[in-house]
Amino acid sequence: MPVDTTPAAGVAPAPRLENAEHLPGAAKADPILVADDVTRSFGGIKAVDVAHLEIPRHAITALIGPNGAGKTTLFNLLTGFDKAESGRWTFDGQPADKLSAARAARAGMVRTFQLTKALNRMTVLENMRLGATGQQGERFATALVPALWRRREQEITDKAMTLLERFKLDAKKDDYAGSLSGGQRKLLEMARALMTDPRMLMLDEPMAGVNPALKQSLLGHIKQLRDEGMTVLFIEHDMHMVRHVSDWVVVMSEGRIVAEGPAHTVMHEQAVVDAYLGAHHDTDLGADALLED
Ligand code: ATP
Repeated sequence: MPVDTTPAAGVAPAPRLENAEHLPGAAKADPILVADDVTRSFGGIKAVDVAHLEIPRHAITALIGPNGAGKTTLFNLLTGFDKAESGRWTFDGQPADKLSAARAARAGMVRTFQLTKALNRMTVLENMRLGATGQQGERFATALVPALWRRREQEITDKAMTLLERFKLDAKKDDYAGSLSGGQRKLLEMARALMTDPRMLMLDEPMAGVNPALKQSLLGHIKQLRDEGMTVLFIEHDMHMVRHVSDWVVVMSEGRIVAEGPAHTVMHEQAVVDAYLGAHHDTDLGADALLED
């Protein structure tokens, strides 16, 4: 059976962002995700306080901001890994704020984690096969019919191998994930996330700990996915990546969205410079990089 690894095969319109205002909460022509009044506090501090956010479909959006701005918490809320105190959001037109993490993934919103969760003592292929968990093949009725189960198992393996070839990890299929380099793990995370055919891929710091050669490869893969119709939302501190890959940038500071726009303009906005300069010392370096041309 042919394996389709292109989540929205044949649909790859250019991102229609030219008419979007360069303002926090800007409306997009065709948002895949729309969120309103999303809040989450920890010990009295509002980690997330997002009034309105629209993520454009078929585009690469970077979510940036200094350490502690609330980016990962927002990811956790949107993907069902944490519970918002208030707020509503839709994914692809359907309410998504009550979904568990598993249901959010099945709805098409799949994320990777800052610290890669690839299980070290499992092989690369086993990690990939695990990415298919929760799909139809794991349903009770299918599991009871051996022929159906075997066919499903084979489909999962075929799909895993196709994705591993795409990410040039096929030669490592029998290696333990723990033996991979940091960059290869990021590729594995991305490949594994694609096992469920997501419509939106959410990457938490995909470039952290990746060497320059693999960074280029990762950038290429992300653009390629977008060109095939995928929506990508990624959190990143690496401003080189943000500048080179994003169609749109959303900036968070102290839980709120403080700026939005294309990378080349948003990085010079006063609210963004202030957010970085007012932040922890570590991210001053980020601000320097932010202002590089
Ligand atoms: P970074 O870029 O450093 O990863 P971030 O923008 O992703 O930061 P978050 O990790 O979302 O920021 O954190 C936002 C705020 O919420 C921070 O003040 C953080 O300390 C706090 N926070 C996040 N998760 C928890 C938690 N489980 N318990 C308590 N406080 C938390």
